[in-house]
Amino acid sequence: MEDRELYFKMNDFVVNMHPWDETIYEELPTFCSFNIPVIELLEPVFSDYNDEIDASKIEKKAFYENIKLINEFYKKIGLKFNANNVIKNNALDYVFYDYDDPDKINRFKNGCNYYTSEDYRKEIEVCNNGLITDSIVLVHELSHYRNQRDKGRTIVGRFFTETLALTDELIYYDYLLNNGHKIDKNFIRSSFYFYYQNAIEAFSVMDLLLLFSEYGGITEKDYETFYNTTDDYKENIEVFKDITNDYSILVATGYNVSFLLAPYLFYKYKKNNDYFFLEYLNELINEPNIDTDDCFEEIGLNGIDEDDVKVLSKSIKRFTNEYLK
Ligand SMILES: [Zn+2]
Repeated sequence: MEDRELYFKMNDFVVNMHPWDETIYEELPTFCSFNIPVIELLEPVFSDYNDEIDASKIEKKAFYENIKLINEFYKKIGLKFNANNVIKNNALDYVFYDYDDPDKINRFKNGCNYYTSEDYRKEIEVCNNGLITDSIVLVHELSHYRNQRDKGRTIVGRFFTETLALTDELIYYDYLLNNGHKIDKNFIRSSFYFYYQNAIEAFSVMDLLLLFSEYGGITEKDYETFYNTTDDYKENIEVFKDITNDYSILVATGYNVSFLLAPYLFYKYKKNNDYFFLEYLNELINEPNIDTDDCFEEIGLNGIDEDDVKVLSKSIKRFTNEYLK
């Protein structure tokens, strides 16, 4: 891609930015910095990463058995929600796979939550490999579904929904392990590998966006003048070239934040075995007059400043030692 084409791609990206993304764009240095601890904390874990998930090391479970397991889990944590509701509401779509197929990473992890374009219905889609790990994907997506308001998400809701979903995923994963279920460790490792890759990608995009917002250009010369180095320039451009029109810096930031917060919230839950504060946060993020600072305050943080990063890093290190190594 020539400089001129890159310029147009960046220009189009900024001009066509979703209003949600503009909130991140206005404070790029802050949000750009969220990527650094994610990359630094996960680099040692994934330096020798082998992403093979071994289906033979994962317990087989049929669809209705997974639903039953999830309902037992919700009962155990005192959450008044029944997974059958989404089936009754016609909001659940299963994507079926052959779990003996060699190409499996995405199939193991495939899940999404969205509003249907025609009538704005809440919907989730999850993989069905006939394995217990399908229920982990479903618990994650059900968490999104539970804080999916009828008329679309607020910015605060969008910002925190991934954090709540990942926290539920970790609590449920831990619950399954404690109840003697068999799950290949690479399943949860590959989830975290996703956050690592997301942070690297987001960092590259935001690094160039910041340059563009300051200089109105993204040539190597601009980069060198602004950052006093060209070290990461080529790599950042390679990443930027590949992003599609629907790339969202708010969504990418939501993933970064979830990685930083979820292990902390997971241990906060485990300390007292009390899910109530998470259920409260689940409601709070949808309140009309609530901002992100209120939510951070509710969970005992300032808003991911330097002090927070110190506290959060402790939980991440503990989590990586206990679950990812
Ligand atoms: Zn999610």
